[in-house]
Amino acid sequence: MNTERSAQLMERARKLIPGGVNSPVRAFRGVGGSPRFIESGAGCRMVDVDGNSYIDYVCSWGPLILGHCFPPVMNAIRAVLETGTSFGAPTEREIELAEEISTAVPSMEMVRLVNSGTEATMSALRVARGFTGRDLTIKFEGCYHGHVDSLLVKAGSGMATLGIADTAGVPRAFAETTLALPYNSVEAIEAAFTAHGSEIAAVIVEPVVGNMGCVPPLPGYLQAMQALCNQHGALLIFDEVMTGFRVSFGGAQELYDIRPDLSTFGKVIGGGLPIAAYGGRADIMSRVAPSGNIYQAGTLSGNPLAVASGLAMLRYLKAHKDVYQQLDRAAARIAAAAPEGVTVNRVGSMFTFFFGTGPVTNWDTAKTADTARFNAFFHHMLENGVYLPPSQFEAGFVSAAHDDEAIEATVQAIRSFR
Ligand code: PMP
Repeated sequence: MNTERSAQLMERARKLIPGGVNSPVRAFRGVGGSPRFIESGAGCRMVDVDGNSYIDYVCSWGPLILGHCFPPVMNAIRAVLETGTSFGAPTEREIELAEEISTAVPSMEMVRLVNSGTEATMSALRVARGFTGRDLTIKFEGCYHGHVDSLLVKAGSGMATLGIADTAGVPRAFAETTLALPYNSVEAIEAAFTAHGSEIAAVIVEPVVGNMGCVPPLPGYLQAMQALCNQHGALLIFDEVMTGFRVSFGGAQELYDIRPDLSTFGKVIGGGLPIAAYGGRADIMSRVAPSGNIYQAGTLSGNPLAVASGLAMLRYLKAHKDVYQQLDRAAARIAAAAPEGVTVNRVGSMFTFFFGTGPVTNWDTAKTADTARFNAFFHHMLENGVYLPPSQFEAGFVSAAHDDEAIEATVQAIRSFR
């Protein structure tokens, strides 16, 4: 496979952009080699600047649940483009998007749109603190909630990939507001509440973890978490930036039948354009400015293009919920092809092949994976035209555009790995 032009672009990028990329995992640091610069995408495929074509299981890290250049989304963006790119004033479609989100996810009684998942979690946390008058937060090791100062403690995603346990640049006082506990342990949450119950504003969790690779909640875990929050007056925040409109139309909260106090959404709700949302109980969200004194704002929040794209995406999914069965079947076929010595974790169309045989239920077990073997697998797949997330500690995503032919080609590529 010729990757000369990608390599040249990486040389050029490195001079001006830290590590050559605008988000760390894109640099292939975990898996080695040089990243592919992408020229275009269509359906389930991407083409790089050297003309190589890949079946894409990153899907922009989740947003492209219907594939690249999905016509209803592209048409919606084109139509709005003609009317202007940003007004900094309210528009009708923002209400429509809030209505779609709130209808799909009933716990989202009120919704505020922001521009990224990071903003959504940062804001939800501020609201939880403002509402409860408490400062501490419980998060879980290996979960990633964006690059929010106080949440970059024992975080997953790029932090896990690069082996950065605690980032430079976060004041100790901020990090000290976070209690990082092992995922899937009810005992750990009980102990934290016993020690600090009256100081804990919120528990924030990826209800299905995607950012240490895919790790589902054990039966009863999320229910126990909610009960402990209720008992101690802390708010439960589901970070559904990855799982929202992905593991089910109503997100992980629908799948596991839990109504969190606050939730965050991103990825799918923008259809590939930058947008995210936070929201939840009306009595809490009505404390957000200008109706309340918890401040949060954004020049481009509710951007017309991003809102139009998200609306087209959600409306399509609402009208075609059978997509979720299709995604499940496609992902199941990939999971079933896993090589020997691999633990497959999968929830719907999110999946990870952990190179190791034990169950993976938290960061301690995830990090025992044989990353050298994963890296060899990653490059084998890439050479065979299959683009997986370039890290053992990220989830892969299947889209509805992954047709039989693409799935079969992927299965063949997996089977030829030695
Ligand atoms: N929360 C979760 C669960 C995520 O997966 C991510 C991003 N992968 C974020 C928050 C941050 O979102 P963004 O990259 O849009 O800031």
